[in-house]
Parts: sequence; C-alpha cells; structure tokens
Amino acid sequence: MESIYYVLCWHCHRRCKHCYEERFRPYVRDELESVVAEAKRNAPSIVANLPERMTYLELDPQDPQRFLEKTGKITLSGGDVLTEPVRESVLYPTLEAIHDKYRDNGGIRVVVQTTGDLLTPAIIEELLARGVWNISVSGLDDYHVGMEGEKKQAFAKRVPAMLLDAGLQDSTALDTRSERGNLEGPLFSMFGATEDTWIGKLWPRGRAWQNNFSQATLADNFCDAWSGGLNFLNHQYAGSEVPCQGLTVKPFPEIRRGTGNVNAVSGPDQVITRFRRAVRCIQVGIRKLQGAVCLLPGGHGHSCPSA
Ligand code: SF4
Repeated sequence: MESIYYVLCWHCHRRCKHCYEERFRPYVRDELESVVAEAKRNAPSIVANLPERMTYLELDPQDPQRFLEKTGKITLSGGDVLTEPVRESVLYPTLEAIHDKYRDNGGIRVVVQTTGDLLTPAIIEELLARGVWNISVSGLDDYHVGMEGEKKQAFAKRVPAMLLDAGLQDSTALDTRSERGNLEGPLFSMFGATEDTWIGKLWPRGRAWQNNFSQATLADNFCDAWSGGLNFLNHQYAGSEVPCQGLTVKPFPEIRRGTGNVNAVSGPDQVITRFRRAVRCIQVGIRKLQGAVCLLPGGHGHSCPSA
C-alpha cells in the first residue's frame, strides 16, 4: 500500500463552515475528554493492525519491465493533531509506535497534516525528533476561521519561514507525488481549499454540505483522489490509498457505512477483502440526493440498492 490516511482524532480547535465533518466542535460537557480518550484508546490497536510492511511497487523509470519496491507513507490527520490535548497524549506516542513497527521492516514515511497555526519552533523540533518526514500545512485558504484575507498572507509568510529555519525543505511546488516521494525529507508543503486545487470544490459532506459551500458536481470524483480511496483495490502498487477514520476503515470518506473495523482484521488482505465486499454498496455520498449515482467504473447511473 502506498498510502494510508489516518484520521487520528476527532478534535479540532476550529469550527470551520467548510469542514468535511460536523463533529469538530463545539464539544458539550465532557465530549472533549471523550474524543481524546477514544483516540488514545484506539491508536495502539490501529497501529498494531496496520499492514506488516508499508511498501509498494512502482515501475522503474529506467526499465519499464521492472518494479522497484518503495517505502509507503502514513498521513496523520484530524481535526488538528497539534492541539494541546492531542499532541502529546495521542500524536507523539502514535508516531513512536509507527516508527517502531516499520523500523526494521521496509521503513515508513510519516506525514503530519495540520492547519499550521499551532506550529512553533519547539513543536517542529519535537515532530522531527519523532521522525516526521513531511509536515503538510493544509490551512492556506480563506475558509479556515481566523486565516482569511490579510491573515492568510501573513500566515503564508510566517509558517514557511519557521519551517525553513528548522531545516525542512519546501516541497509545495512539486506537484507530483513521485517527485516528492523521491526526497528524503524532512519536507513541508502548503495547500488549502483554493479554486485551483482539487480540494477547492470542497467535499460534498459535513458542514460544507450543510452550508452549501461545496461546488462539487457528480463530475468531481473525490473517490478517485488522494485522501479518498484512490486505487485501493490495486494496493500493491503506486498510487493506492486507504483512509482510516479512527477504527473505521473506509475506502471513501463519502461511503455511508464503514467497511471494516481495524480491530477485527489482521492484515492488508483481510482489509482488501472487506473493501471488495463493500464495493457493492459504494455510492458517492451526496447524502441528500437519495439514490445518488455511483461513480465507480461500471457503476454509472444506477442507484445503489445496498446504500
Ligand atoms: S476544516 Fe479543518 S480546521 Fe476547520 S474545523 Fe474542520 S478539521 Fe478543523
């Protein structure tokens, strides 16, 4: 598997109107403790059930008859994994556990995705000390609360300067995954929901859907993108990804039901078997359009009877 996108915790310090989820804030009474405790409880078993080896095969550009084995990546995302209750109690132990698991077995590249405003030189140093390969800053747009307009411009100067100072290489301009993948790191990249990016249309779900912010149409196949379920059935090869939202393994975030419980499977083959079964009930989750059209190859135009 080239990539696993792991939503580590349902905690965020914001409540953006364009968010792909409704569950990030507000937290009523003890809900905050509860989401952090859930993430803390689940992370060790999720890591234990990740594939034993996180490598994938990519065609050798010098010899198209030959595959090269390359090291895959795990992106740790939220919410924001750098928030105070999550960073030290969930993120850092998870980073250490992931590296322990793969250190002598093909290695791993870990990406920490964050909106970026919580980064400080000390936190960057702590992330690097735990082997983070790429810090992916995702808040560079006008949607994120507190980063609009001029604040965004200031953010776009302050954060890269801090990351460059810490010795990270800016890989933002490398627009292909394999260009970035060839770099040893540590790297950083910056993006946001802007019109010229695939995420600019916003996922048709969560608050983006409730607030009518998504510009996506049925022609926009979010399943066929990174952070979706890109080529998940082709999991041995380059360009394959599976999202894992807490304990729930979902090939596509839009799918209505999870297709596997990380604790109930023991390896990639079982996960893939579950995904194959799940293909029957996959439909793009424009949930208010009952009988939405399946965008999978071969699934055009029919509504999913299992959904
Ligand atoms: S869009 Fe990102 S920063 Fe905003 S509430 Fe959602 S997860 Fe948090």
